[in-house]
Amino acid sequence: MGWAIALHGGAGDIPLNLPAERRLPREAALKHCLNVGVAALKANKNALDVVELVVRELENHPNFNAGKGSVLTTAGTIEMEACIMDGNTMKCGAVSGLTTVVNAISLARLVMEKTPHIYLAFDGAEAFAREQGVETIDSSHFITSENIERLHQAKEANRVQIDYTQPITANSNKETTAADANGDSQIGTVGCVAVDSCGNLASATSTGGLVNKMVGRIGDTPIIGAGTYANHLCAVSATGKGESIIRGTVARDVAALMEFRGLSLKEAASYVVDDRVPKGTCGLVAVSATGEVTMPFNTTDETYI
Ligand code: ASP
Repeated sequence: MGWAIALHGGAGDIPLNLPAERRLPREAALKHCLNVGVAALKANKNALDVVELVVRELENHPNFNAGKGSVLTTAGTIEMEACIMDGNTMKCGAVSGLTTVVNAISLARLVMEKTPHIYLAFDGAEAFAREQGVETIDSSHFITSENIERLHQAKEANRVQIDYTQPITANSNKETTAADANGDSQIGTVGCVAVDSCGNLASATSTGGLVNKMVGRIGDTPIIGAGTYANHLCAVSATGKGESIIRGTVARDVAALMEFRGLSLKEAASYVVDDRVPKGTCGLVAVSATGEVTMPFNTTDETYI
């Protein structure tokens, strides 16, 4: 049996004419992370190890909204969250409210493997990280100047926004700021799905959440069946406006349409993105046990947040 992999660096109101100097580094980072995943699959690593590995790479890249580069809460702090799921065993782990953990995705995996629980958050998750001896660092490490500017914009506009949200300018009710004019605002949540050569499926997603989110807000990323899901049929990682993705039970609905309606992965994912969530709020990557890959999104044209 063959293997397949897909990854994402977020969905949102991404300008199609993003300047090359801003687009190319992000594309290069995605390609690099994809190559890391492909090499691991070719070396017969299992899907769970591969998605964790790829998401760690993405978390370490400051141009994405996860790990270093996470967007800021309304208080100017970071609260990172992540989730991982093994489609073979249906085991999963999730974390929220992390402020010092370098790789949230690996802590999520430890929750899955070393605790009787699925989901740890805030102080308890941080304490568990210390107990497990994972790499931690002062919160200031994760905060970039671009994200300070992005929070400033969101506060000025009095809105909570997806990291890719376009600024408001004078002509089109949108206003341009320095960070957006040079494309600095274009970052995104990260995720990876894979099926290995034994047919095992896994999904991993990691994020800083939404810009200007309330302190304590939890999005779709760590919620099993919303932002992240895997079973014996498919693995799904979603991105976009968490509140819409949670209401739409996006990742689980893709799997359910395959299981109960007999749809193909592509049909199921397209249906969910087109009909189950509001336009402008969602994108996902997914692979099936047979190696089908799909990456629908409904976000590019307008911002609906
Ligand atoms: N879905 C994430 C959240 O709402 C944000 C994103 O995907 O960019 O927290």
